[in-house]
Amino acid sequence: MISRLFRAVIMGPPGSGKGTISSRILRDFAFKHLSSGDLLRAQIRDGTIAGVQASHYIERGELVPDDLVVQLVLAELRSHLKGDNWLLDGFPRTVPQAQALKESFSLSCVLNLNVPDEVIIDRIKGRWVHAESGRTYHTEFNPPKVPGFDDVTGEPLVQRHDDKPETVRARLNSYKNQSTPVLEYYRKTGLLQEFTGRESNEIWPRVRAYLSSLIDVQREQDVDRV
Ligand code: AMP
Repeated sequence: MISRLFRAVIMGPPGSGKGTISSRILRDFAFKHLSSGDLLRAQIRDGTIAGVQASHYIERGELVPDDLVVQLVLAELRSHLKGDNWLLDGFPRTVPQAQALKESFSLSCVLNLNVPDEVIIDRIKGRWVHAESGRTYHTEFNPPKVPGFDDVTGEPLVQRHDDKPETVRARLNSYKNQSTPVLEYYRKTGLLQEFTGRESNEIWPRVRAYLSSLIDVQREQDVDRV
């Protein structure tokens, strides 16, 4: 008997713990990970034509055109990840990308990490850095001995532009505008599974239980088909 492969997409705003949850999925399940951002960066590093084209958009913080990214991702799924269970990260980012994916592969599920904006902003705004050395601190999880000052040099700590609440809020809004149509698309197809919580340790056991049960169901259906 040949079992169906397990194919999942993971979505979530920046700072939602998507990286942590993805790495735990890879640790506990036999999945291969494909990040469209990594794939594009590899093309840029290798100086391919696709990489040169993509870099213009990436440098400006814009989405790479659908045709280009769809072609790259589908080619990777068909070649290097052929016959594997996979977890797709960063793709699809638009409805046309989701439709193109559907034409080639049937998905098992779409996981969406739903962490409130205020939780993400609070967590990120606690990060402080010693500019000279790059030493990082967090007011809650890894505080400096003297608040606001580097442990080693005693110099003042600064906040990165990217970690400032207004920057994080802008990033979250832009993610929301971009992802809402894709989430709606998957909600309609019944593939979307939402996990709401404040932190990865709270969300992870539910993701794990969900994936385990879905894999069991898929396996039983495959047995019934034989
Ligand atoms: P990421 O590492 O997922 O944040 O992606 C880095 C950059 O690559 C993004 O800001 C986009 O410019 C581009 N990118 C990654 N995935 C996609 C995608 N699915 N569609 C369009 N552009 C993408």
